[in-house]
Amino acid sequence: MAYDPENIFAKILRGEIPCDKIYEDDTALAFRDINPQAPVHLLVIPKGSYESLDDFSDNASDAEIAGFFRAVGTVAREAGAVEAGYRFLANNGPDAHQEVPHFHVHVFAGRDLGGMIKRAP
Ligand code: AMP
Repeated sequence: MAYDPENIFAKILRGEIPCDKIYEDDTALAFRDINPQAPVHLLVIPKGSYESLDDFSDNASDAEIAGFFRAVGTVAREAGAVEAGYRFLANNGPDAHQEVPHFHVHVFAGRDLGGMIKRAP
């Protein structure tokens, strides 16, 4: 599937729609999720046009990958989430219910986050 430049995170990166920005560097942008699932719910996205973790891990440069994951750690640290703990999660594709086709990781913190994943019924 080709990258859709009209996805909402691409529009945020181009400055066409606002976001509650908390961090930015050469490779990554982080902002608050508009529909938070935890007291701290942040999104970290690469600046490059990658639709998913699969696309990012296959096609991004080593510098982009290193820069991005350093940014995730920095964002969690600056949010004060390290001591109590946090979770980062990336949804990839339909079974994971990925809604926005621009690679992003969620950073959740600020409460006990419970078990990792619901068991199948
Ligand atoms: P995912 O299901 O992993 O694709 O998650 C997409 C996330 O993006 C959801 O948690 C949404 O609440 C969030 N989201 C969608 N639009 C915006 C927006 N304009 N600003 C911040 N977060 C958004």
